[in-house]
Amino acid sequence: MPDASAFDRRRGRCLVCGELLGVEPHLIVDLPDGEHVKCRDWTKHAFPYARVLRDLRRRYKAIREAVSPEVLVRVVGLGRWLAERQRMWPEGAAETVLESGQRFDAVLPALREAGVTIR
Ligand SMILES: [Zn+2]
Repeated sequence: MPDASAFDRRRGRCLVCGELLGVEPHLIVDLPDGEHVKCRDWTKHAFPYARVLRDLRRRYKAIREAVSPEVLVRVVGLGRWLAERQRMWPEGAAETVLESGQRFDAVLPALREAGVTIR
C-alpha cells in the first residue's frame, strides 16, 4: 500500500525554487511536487484563458439576451480584462493567474444561473 501522506500536497516541493509548496498558490506538476504560481516560467506556457475568452466572444449575443444588464456589465468587464491580459501575456502572468479565480467567481456562476455555460 502506498503511503497516503506521499500524496499530501503540503509535502510537495516547488520544482523551481525548491521550497515547500505550502499554502502559496501553486500548480501540481508531478504529484506531489509542482510550481508556485509566482515561480513558474510563464514564458513557456500559452495564455491559459484563451478558450474562455473565445467562448465569451462567440456567445456574446446569447449572453446579452440571457442575463440582466448588471451581469452583462460584469461579463463585458471580464472579457476586456482577459483580452488585455492576453495581449500582455506573459507579462504579468502570475498576477493574471492569481487574479483570475476571483474574477471568474464574480461572473461565471451568474452565467450558469442564466443557462449559459462557459468552460
Ligand atoms: Zn517556488
